[in-house]
Amino acid sequence: MRIGFGYDSHRLEAGRKLMLGGVEIPFEKGLLGHSDGDALIHAIIDAVFGAICAGDIGRHFPDTGERFRGASSLGLLKEAVSIAGNAGYRVLNVDSTVVAEAPKLAPHIERMRETLSAVLGTGAVSIKAKSNEKMGFTGRGEGIAAYAVCLLEKKKT
Ligand code: MG
Repeated sequence: MRIGFGYDSHRLEAGRKLMLGGVEIPFEKGLLGHSDGDALIHAIIDAVFGAICAGDIGRHFPDTGERFRGASSLGLLKEAVSIAGNAGYRVLNVDSTVVAEAPKLAPHIERMRETLSAVLGTGAVSIKAKSNEKMGFTGRGEGIAAYAVCLLEKKKT
């Protein structure tokens, strides 16, 4: 078995749609990024790559690449899972925490879990949401951060 850890953060900006966990969440701001800015998925992708010692998201999906401009992070996660699969590993479970002062994520977590489960190939996907008690960049609502760990298992041949 292999464990991986990932972290990501993106700036919140007016006029962008807010994508988190592959789901669009109604809010007056969205996450700025070369792709759709989905910080939760990016943290999970880095956890998957970390577990197989395959570098990070920027190595596989460079933010200078035209191919990834406005890219759906869910599609990138699909690719990351298939890269892990080619390396002989499948995902056992993911646990994650999103740090956001607003909006309230609780009503959306179940849909995010279902969306990510379908791509990760496991029902064992956990997403927790925290505020940062008004401290730091997340607490001031300047951005959203996400942390994830992921356990992979060597596939039986
Ligand atoms: Mg990112």
